[in-house]
Amino acid sequence: MGSFIYLDNSATTKCREEVMDAMQPYFCDKWGNPSSLHRLGFQSRKALNHAREQAAQLVGAHPEEIYFTPCGTYSNNAALLGRAQYIEQNGLGKHLITTCIEHNSSLGPAKHLQSRGWKVSHLHVSDEGIVDLDELKKLITDETSIISLMWANNEVGTVQPVAEIAEIAAARNIFFHSDAIQVPGKLKIDMSAVPVSSLSLSGHKFYAPKGIGILYVRKGMEIAPILFGGGQEQGIFPGTESLSNIVAVGAAAELAHSELTENYDHLRTLQRLLIDKLTSHSAVRLTGAPIKHRLPGHVSVIVDGSVGEQLVLEADLKGVCISSVSACKQAAQDPSHVLACMGLPREQVIGSARITAGRFNTVEECEKAAEILLKIFTKRASTANPAPAPAIV
Ligand code: PLP
Repeated sequence: MGSFIYLDNSATTKCREEVMDAMQPYFCDKWGNPSSLHRLGFQSRKALNHAREQAAQLVGAHPEEIYFTPCGTYSNNAALLGRAQYIEQNGLGKHLITTCIEHNSSLGPAKHLQSRGWKVSHLHVSDEGIVDLDELKKLITDETSIISLMWANNEVGTVQPVAEIAEIAAARNIFFHSDAIQVPGKLKIDMSAVPVSSLSLSGHKFYAPKGIGILYVRKGMEIAPILFGGGQEQGIFPGTESLSNIVAVGAAAELAHSELTENYDHLRTLQRLLIDKLTSHSAVRLTGAPIKHRLPGHVSVIVDGSVGEQLVLEADLKGVCISSVSACKQAAQDPSHVLACMGLPREQVIGSARITAGRFNTVEECEKAAEILLKIFTKRASTANPAPAPAIV
């Protein structure tokens, strides 16, 4: 594949050697089913419990509040649809408050609930992508039973005032779900201090393999199962556990927790460097919030008069991997619903690029990448003739 600089860590991260070493024995040496009563089963159960403790420590939770899931998308669906199911079964109010900048794995369940008779309200966000707490308070009624707001946005890196939102929800006894999939290893998550009801994480965003997620559900906050089968994961995620992946995400969680300060400092250094260099040309503008309200390592820009996909392909030709709209939507070539919600006009939305550093990136690499990208961005800004924008849905 030749040498390249990977700056697309919000899309996915490389699995760490330590994580691979931890999971390796669970393929051929310790391959028992955790539900089996014999020695191999006991060995696997012990590993499962240990991983649950590691995941709990990452988010300041109790191990019983941690469920392993097939990925972040499942975690968001299970929390929202599972809580909705519980609410319907108990005849409570069917009003959900969310935003239009959520990931599709939260927007999808909200849309589904609308088709089931729920009222869904979308909060506005500022041009930096931050929700207005006064608007949230005004939208809450006696019928409001779920608030779903992401901790940090994947496309523009904006971090929401989650602690304040959680307090508002708790004061009204409203279930508050937060998609925190972009947060581990970058910012502290402490469920003992912040009264969030449920939280989604995904292993491949913090150096574990793809195909393993975590759902935290606070003790006493019930969600009903939306899948049915055996009793694994307290009946919420039935099916034989993917033990090697679970061991991997446990190891990655422990590392993310113990190395948080070091990671944070490193990512902030790379982020400042990238922002300073890339926005030194007037045609390149930062989208989202300034560093104070931004995920460490996250940079997103609009290049005037360009098309994001062209920027990505040209950067790839020069050996730099970045992205335009969220990787999950790449195939659909859809312009960003997030930037559109933040009030950016269509001709700007299509010229978006996201550059996200991770723990393996070095200062030298980022300096080199910034030089290459700036050349591409400025050339495109002066020559591009953008194709007509596809409709924003
Ligand atoms: N939520 C956010 C904020 C994400 O960035 C992603 C992945 O891009 C997801 C949800 C979906 O996670 P997964 O890929 O594990 O299904």
